[in-house]
Amino acid sequence: MKQYKYVLQERDMPTHWYNILADMQNPPPFYRHPATLALMEDPPMPPPVFPMELIQQEFSQERWIEIPDEVADVLKLWRPAPLFRAHRWEQALDTPARIYYKWEGVSPAGSHKPNTAVAQCYYAKREGLEGLATETGAGQWGSALSFAGNLFGLKVKVFMVAISFQQKPYRRVMMETWGGEVVPSPSTETHAGRAILEQDPESSGSLGIAISEALEYAMTHDGYKYSLGSVVNFVLLHQTVIGLESMKQMEMAGDYPDILIGCAGGGSNSAGLIFPFMRDKLTGAKPDLRAIFVESTACPSMTRGKYAYDWGDTAKTGPVAMMHTVGHSFMPAPVHAGGLRYHGMAPSICALIDQGYAEARAYHQVEIMDAAHSFARAEGTIVAPETAHAVRATMEEALACKESGESKVILFNASGHGHFDLAAYDAHHREELVDYCLEEERLQKAMAELPRIP
Ligand SMILES: *Cc1c(COP(=O)(O)O)cnc(C)c1O
Repeated sequence: MKQYKYVLQERDMPTHWYNILADMQNPPPFYRHPATLALMEDPPMPPPVFPMELIQQEFSQERWIEIPDEVADVLKLWRPAPLFRAHRWEQALDTPARIYYKWEGVSPAGSHKPNTAVAQCYYAKREGLEGLATETGAGQWGSALSFAGNLFGLKVKVFMVAISFQQKPYRRVMMETWGGEVVPSPSTETHAGRAILEQDPESSGSLGIAISEALEYAMTHDGYKYSLGSVVNFVLLHQTVIGLESMKQMEMAGDYPDILIGCAGGGSNSAGLIFPFMRDKLTGAKPDLRAIFVESTACPSMTRGKYAYDWGDTAKTGPVAMMHTVGHSFMPAPVHAGGLRYHGMAPSICALIDQGYAEARAYHQVEIMDAAHSFARAEGTIVAPETAHAVRATMEEALACKESGESKVILFNASGHGHFDLAAYDAHHREELVDYCLEEERLQKAMAELPRIP
């Protein structure tokens, strides 16, 4: 009899997060100071814009970090998340590959992002903070933090990129339903915002500007700190519940993945799935395990960028990290996968790619929406455009198995649902998806603005 899904009980939830830095022989190098570019050896990273406990996790060398009961209690609203075998899609693709996917779309906000939002709000509350400030592009991160903040009695201030604020009102409504306070960015509430508005009152905003506003707001309001939804070590750490659960579920299925796949904006959901399995590769237990991080050709940091130090934000106020980057000033095309429009990538993922432990791949949005369509018709689930990048890579690996006749085991992370992104599906049906191409000149110009390390 075919089994379609593998379900864990609440008592099977992981009790600890997995910290991959403990198992990397060559972990990513230290951050550098945003102004002086000097190496920031030893914590903490000044200024302390994050809750202290998170700064400690950022630099921790402990392999396992305990998940507080209060955090697990909230995660249990939707975790453990189900893992599916895509029997129908395998049939539709006529592939001998065995395809599995972990489904993170079951969270209240509809993606993996609450996994870290809950932990961040817990530590902020325990530190006695009144609220957290953050930025959001299309609204996925802002809604995850609003949801979590509400449960811990924290205020959440969200600077939402103005163009999304206007074009995607439903994510804003979601944030407000959970008590988040949302303002379009650039706003009149910060120096950074007012400076932009003086020059361009009609500015449609950018993630870089929104980050600068959220940082400034956090640093100028008593009882507030800043929150980030991807890229940094502690966010990836919190996301490892995805992979730790999946390991148990794959065991239930009697399979072990040959290939792991995830889409990567800042890298948190893919790292969440991949890192616990990657431990087996780092320790030599599974030397042939393949891991593929998938990005958008509109913002190809891993496949076209440089492996170099760069600022984490456009305004150059955040720390400088060694990563694959297309440059902090790069403005990507307005593709539907808003979560994949970040110029850099999580340093630990970049180190793994640089050292040959993992692969990177990029797709155009027409290709990824074709794949999402194929997946929806076979499995029913309508995935987010970001997730569709992982779906596309899975499809290509499954079709390669059809060519070779191999029955490989493929596991991908389905990071979120696409119910707020139906405009992307609509455009796909009408063949009206924006056809962009990467402008070589703009890419080179942005990469020429990388910091010169003294
Ligand atoms: C934000 C988002 C992403 C990209 O962020 P990562 O940190 O790379 O995971 C991917 N998928 C969904 C559904 C998202 O909301």
